[in-house]
Amino acid sequence: MLQAVARVHRGLFHSRAGLSVRMSSTGINPKSVLANRVAVVTGSTEGIGFAIARRLAQDGAHVVVSSRKQQNVDRAVATLQGEGLSVTGTVCHVGKAEDRERLVTKVLEHHGGLDFLVCNAAVNILVGGTLKASEEMWDKILTVNVKSPALLLSQMLPHMENRGMGAVILVSSLAAYIPQVKLGVYNISKTAMLGLTRTLSLELAPKGIRVNCLVPGIIETRFSQVLHNDEFFWNDFKKRYKVQRLGQPEDCAGIVSFLCSPDASYITGESFVVAGFSPRL
Ligand code: NAP
Repeated sequence: MLQAVARVHRGLFHSRAGLSVRMSSTGINPKSVLANRVAVVTGSTEGIGFAIARRLAQDGAHVVVSSRKQQNVDRAVATLQGEGLSVTGTVCHVGKAEDRERLVTKVLEHHGGLDFLVCNAAVNILVGGTLKASEEMWDKILTVNVKSPALLLSQMLPHMENRGMGAVILVSSLAAYIPQVKLGVYNISKTAMLGLTRTLSLELAPKGIRVNCLVPGIIETRFSQVLHNDEFFWNDFKKRYKVQRLGQPEDCAGIVSFLCSPDASYITGESFVVAGFSPRL
């Protein structure tokens, strides 16, 4: 028991230990806060995931980007490498077991392990009410949005442990707090991410791995067009919550870098809303 407490203490309270710096030929400051760390970001070839991948790499991490389509992976890797960042990529549809396995293999091949996992990929294949969803739609949304982060983490976990500092960031949505009528099952999947965050944070604390949740509001990406292109919805939303502008993917990136950093070493099980207002008490 005491040993377990000591392990938690080491992992959550003293995670600066083991944070090393390196000389870099990439133009990244070798004293960057995430230098020598390895980050995997799913669904990271555009939108919020891409902005997170870029920011983690700018802050010194080696980043592995991924998404379903090879050409998108190639484009994202080329763009970020062109900026002097340490980035590699591989195809990974998070809902496919063989793709998750390949992602783990690639991470081990390139880096031998990882420190940060950002589970950003998600789908919404139904614009409509919950009871309009077929069983197939339920399965797809819950598999990609809820099950796959947990399954991917279980595969990555053995390679995250014993690296001195580990952080997992799950991506939920404002829809978890304020369900949108158009987004039925998706709302539910994103509410589940809050539960997953809290449960995993307890389970992984003894291993020194922190689990937190990013909760984006309305961020200007292809994914959210159905909301922000709907003039009635968007005007009403802005008026109701005094939101002054559409969020940008970069608005979500700094908080993720912070949550990976030693400055967040005493923060776990928490959700962070990035929405231009707060829906929480
Ligand atoms: P986005 O701009 O549409 O980007 C989605 C990314 O995920 C792309 O790189 C896409 O590339 C990849 N992707 C899609 N399905 C995937 C799958 N099954 N496996 C792996 N990669 C997949 O989306 P976004 O707006 O940035 O959303 C990112 C996250 O933020 C999601 O979890 C979403 O629920 C959440 N969120 C977004 C908003 C918002 O307003 N934008 C608000 C709240 C929460 P490929 O097409 O190549 O796979």
